[in-house]
Amino acid sequence: MLYVFKEGWSTFKSIFTGMGVTIRHFFSPSVTEKYPYEKIELPKGARAKLHVNIDDCIGCNLCARACPVNCIDIETVKATDDVDLGKTSTGNPKRFWLTRFDIDMAKCMYCDLCVHPCPTNCIYMVPEYEYSEVDRSNLVYHFSNLKPEMVAEVKEKAEQEAEQKKRERQEMMRKKAEAAKKKKEEQEKKQAEAKKSSNKNDNDKPSTPGKKDS
Ligand code: SF4
Ligand code: SF4
Repeated sequence: MLYVFKEGWSTFKSIFTGMGVTIRHFFSPSVTEKYPYEKIELPKGARAKLHVNIDDCIGCNLCARACPVNCIDIETVKATDDVDLGKTSTGNPKRFWLTRFDIDMAKCMYCDLCVHPCPTNCIYMVPEYEYSEVDRSNLVYHFSNLKPEMVAEVKEKAEQEAEQKKRERQEMMRKKAEAAKKKKEEQEKKQAEAKKSSNKNDNDKPSTPGKKDS
């Protein structure tokens, strides 16, 4: 009998405790977000999506090297001597064309490791979270603003300049080797002449009389 009373009391206590919680929340203000009609504001520092201010990128590759999952793919081409790419807003000189700067957000794990090494602070997280896609390939974001024909042009120019510099280097090396060879030949010639004249002097000296045998 005592057991029945104990169980009954426990049941009523549970019901009233639960009802108490329900009633308390019934009169308190609602906290439910009516997404997507109402959008939440992300807290400061939230990591939602990467963005690159490509005009400030110097193509140093530090972000790509810091990424633990290799989701940043950068290709650069050195600007030829006749082109001045200017400076970033932080004053860093730009020396490379960014022919490719892709970030695969499907692979990204939002660790933020790519953001910190950037010398010009041009890669950062933005509070944008509505970018789901059916096709994963659409999550690869392309930040380079060079058109394909421009990419082809800068690559060709860079190759030509590299080839020209290689030829100049080879020519310089050839000239240096030639000069060294000439110098060596002259030295050898001088040494041979010196040896010849020393032999001649030895021959011209009067021969010393030998000791008579006792
Ligand atoms: S946040 Fe992390 S995983 Fe994503 S691109 Fe940057 S380094 Fe790579
Ligand atoms: S670290 Fe910054 S400047 Fe360097 S390649 Fe990445 S985004 Fe560009």
